[in-house]
Amino acid sequence: MLSSDRSLPNTGHRYVPQITSLDIPPSPNQELLPLTAKVNSKDNLSIGGCEIQQLVQQYDSPLYILDEFTLRTACRQYRDSFNTYYSGESQVIYASKAWSCIGVCRIIDSEDLGFDVVSGGELFTTIEAGVGKEKIYFHGNNKSTAELEFAVETGCTVMVDNWLELKTLTQIASDKSGQPVPIMVRLTPGIECHTHEYIRTGHLDSKFGFDPNQLDEVFTYLSQQASLSCIGLHAHIGSQIFERQPHQDLGEVLVDWMQKAQGYGLPVTTLNVGGGLGICYTESDDPPSISEWVKAVSTAVENACNKVGLALPKLMAEPGRSLIGSACVTAYTVGSRKEIPNFHTYVAVDGGMSDNPRPITYQSVYRAVVANKMSAPITEEVTVAGKHCESGDIIIKDAALPETEPGDVLVVMDTGAYNYSMASNYNRIGRPAAVVVYEGEANLIIERESYQNLIERDRLPERLVKHKK
Ligand SMILES: *Cc1c(COP(=O)(O)O)cnc(C)c1O
Repeated sequence: MLSSDRSLPNTGHRYVPQITSLDIPPSPNQELLPLTAKVNSKDNLSIGGCEIQQLVQQYDSPLYILDEFTLRTACRQYRDSFNTYYSGESQVIYASKAWSCIGVCRIIDSEDLGFDVVSGGELFTTIEAGVGKEKIYFHGNNKSTAELEFAVETGCTVMVDNWLELKTLTQIASDKSGQPVPIMVRLTPGIECHTHEYIRTGHLDSKFGFDPNQLDEVFTYLSQQASLSCIGLHAHIGSQIFERQPHQDLGEVLVDWMQKAQGYGLPVTTLNVGGGLGICYTESDDPPSISEWVKAVSTAVENACNKVGLALPKLMAEPGRSLIGSACVTAYTVGSRKEIPNFHTYVAVDGGMSDNPRPITYQSVYRAVVANKMSAPITEEVTVAGKHCESGDIIIKDAALPETEPGDVLVVMDTGAYNYSMASNYNRIGRPAAVVVYEGEANLIIERESYQNLIERDRLPERLVKHKK
């Protein structure tokens, strides 16, 4: 690994990858900055061959900057690692809730990954991006009838979560003549892992999936439905996970249930172990690399199959964060400063909880650099605050930074996952633009929301138009 070389001389932090050769790129999820990050002769940070300060001049801030090379590298590492470590067929699908937009879907589709969608809106986005139905998998614990009809009409695979959905889908599928609707059954495997309570989904007390003690009944039911074809089983145990053991255990649990399902005559030959591999948000985070994770999961499934003499299933994984999290940074412009003697110094930026709600929602920790002062000595620890009317609108509590002035460009790293997709218009602040950068070229993939956009769907009933004091 190159990681030990990757510190700026005067920070001691692993902020900037000093990449000498990208022949064997490091695992994106183990890096703080995108793989193409460089410091140019003006001491400015560039990503994808584009200087961040110039991007901010051109596109304004806050600005999401997505590094296409890093995203593609993560896609390839997942795909290639399955080809290396798993003897059977495999498919990696992108959990598009991490960041769903047409540009991102296009890049990932061109890397031949599939898509996990969790709403009609995400399904629509993938279709608009030109993704084929055989590569789309529809999740969700409370899909509406309209969403299920949309899924069936599209021809994607439905990840069935509960009895209501199963019954509704049976009705929709039998009303429509033709091929049976492909489904997979989501189950709660009863596996605990160490991550934030809100993003843990594999323990038995979770809102997602069938409880294991319902599965015999589910399999019996499915064996009697001609309009549904149960091709596989799925489980997802949580997010931002650094341990390998829970996914290895999950592989074994799923193989066990696959054997039972086949006993009911169901054509279950696909297992989906979900996503959840963590990334580095700070220098102390230590997730396995993408290939280490894939190897662990693949080996567990192969061993479990060999033990009971089952043919290897098609193995699927659906990472979100570890595909896109480290491929994007958010650039902000530094504004006001408030010093409270012997307490805190607040440095405010021109965005915050509306473009990155993770710190206020999950107490997530981020790191930042000042893009136009990359080798300036780190002289202070400040609290990077957003501009929203909430005291909790803090992006970083303890950012080690050089001295900043208004107009500096602060870059928060690893904002590719669950930032844009969770963004809001709180305080009627428009959502930022996003650009994709690649080999010196920057292109808009999402336009900045204008004031006009913010009121576009406001309506005024006639009686309020007439209303006079
Ligand atoms: C969120 C989610 C994922 C992706 O999780 P990451 O931690 O982003 O990899 C995968 N599958 C399901 C069902 C999910 O809900």
